[in-house]
Amino acid sequence: MNKLPFTKTQIEQIIKTHPTPFIIYDEKAIRENAKHVNKAFSWVPGFKNYFAVKANPNPFLLKILKEEGMGTDCSSLPELILSEKIGTVGEDIMFTSNDTPTEEFVKAKELGAVINLDDISHIDFLEKSAGIPDLICFRYNPGSARAREHAGFIGNPEDAKYGLTHEQLFEAYKIAKEKGVKRFGLHTMVISNELNPAYFVDTAKMLFELVVDIKKEVDVDIEFVNLGGGIGIPHKPEDKPVDLEYLSSQMKEVYDEIVVKNGLDGLKIVMECGRMITGPYGYLVSTVRHIKNTYKDYVGLDACMANNMRPALYGAYHHIVVLGKENDELTHKYDVTGSLCENNDKFAIDRILPEIVRSDIFVIRQSGAHGYAMGFNYNGKLKSAELLLREDGSVVQIRRAETVDDYFATLDFDKLKGFL
Ligand SMILES: *Cc1c(COP(=O)(O)O)cnc(C)c1O
Repeated sequence: MNKLPFTKTQIEQIIKTHPTPFIIYDEKAIRENAKHVNKAFSWVPGFKNYFAVKANPNPFLLKILKEEGMGTDCSSLPELILSEKIGTVGEDIMFTSNDTPTEEFVKAKELGAVINLDDISHIDFLEKSAGIPDLICFRYNPGSARAREHAGFIGNPEDAKYGLTHEQLFEAYKIAKEKGVKRFGLHTMVISNELNPAYFVDTAKMLFELVVDIKKEVDVDIEFVNLGGGIGIPHKPEDKPVDLEYLSSQMKEVYDEIVVKNGLDGLKIVMECGRMITGPYGYLVSTVRHIKNTYKDYVGLDACMANNMRPALYGAYHHIVVLGKENDELTHKYDVTGSLCENNDKFAIDRILPEIVRSDIFVIRQSGAHGYAMGFNYNGKLKSAELLLREDGSVVQIRRAETVDDYFATLDFDKLKGFL
């Protein structure tokens, strides 16, 4: 696992102007990671990672990633607008939505985004709402048997609401071609937060074979395959990150074997990873508010599941560092909680830590993706600030914390007078 990019003294300094809780991102590490991804896949024709905006919708980070050559993967109107705000438009946007409303197709088409359709019926819907674009991509759902046969995927794609069936996919390309579509893409995403590179190679292989079949059966030339996101990140200290060089070289083997051999060389490969791009480089910093000893021992933080709900939602393990106590003996067992009136508002259960006292500073790791982004206001809990540790060591606030006024912004208290 990567080293913390700050010391306790630095964080204490930051807290003087930015009270906890906050998430702080490491710009240098994010840039280096983005460069690493691009380098690992440099043999790939047209390689691009479309950063999944849902993983981290902060425009400052999006702008950094744009500078590192990434596009955006959007699936809602606000995400499309965010992309537009940082100047990422046209085919640098992948619009991978589902259950899509008219206005989102209209906006995506207006921006010239690559529209990735989730259903065969959306061809008609898109035609009536926004018109047929020159380039269309379809999201493929292999179904459970095919997924198992191709990749031994765990999970059950047939329970997933996404994508077209195998049969529908061929039909969809035929219809799209008849309607005047000139360029075509193929997308799938069947795995999430996965650390085994074999699954991604298998996904690529499945799509490469499909590209060959689509050419044979409906004479459509696929310009790119989009492998989706889903590359996992190490959460436990003993976890290893996905070896991208290995993944890339394995993928090249199947590319040569299937794509090149069938004369389809030049097929582009793109991805839409979010988690592995920013996840390890965002740190939720929180101060111990109370220690409570009842039937169990509790550490109560000033952060709660509004700041990172993955432990509560998925039982996800997030590593915790107690600043200044990194080398202390692990002598105590605690539940690390937030203040929400929900007993699952816990960052860790039965975690072995050094002895904790009030005002200790906790760093909850792997909070850089699907952390702030999933935040919510249940129980009147407000979302935290986001800070950026710049490459020169300075710190800037890239989103302020919510205030009580923000929380009440959608209410009109004046109307209470005279009501009832
Ligand atoms: C969530 C999602 C992603 C990003 O997943 P990560 O785990 O953040 O890499 C990419 N594409 C689609 C369609 C998604 O739903």
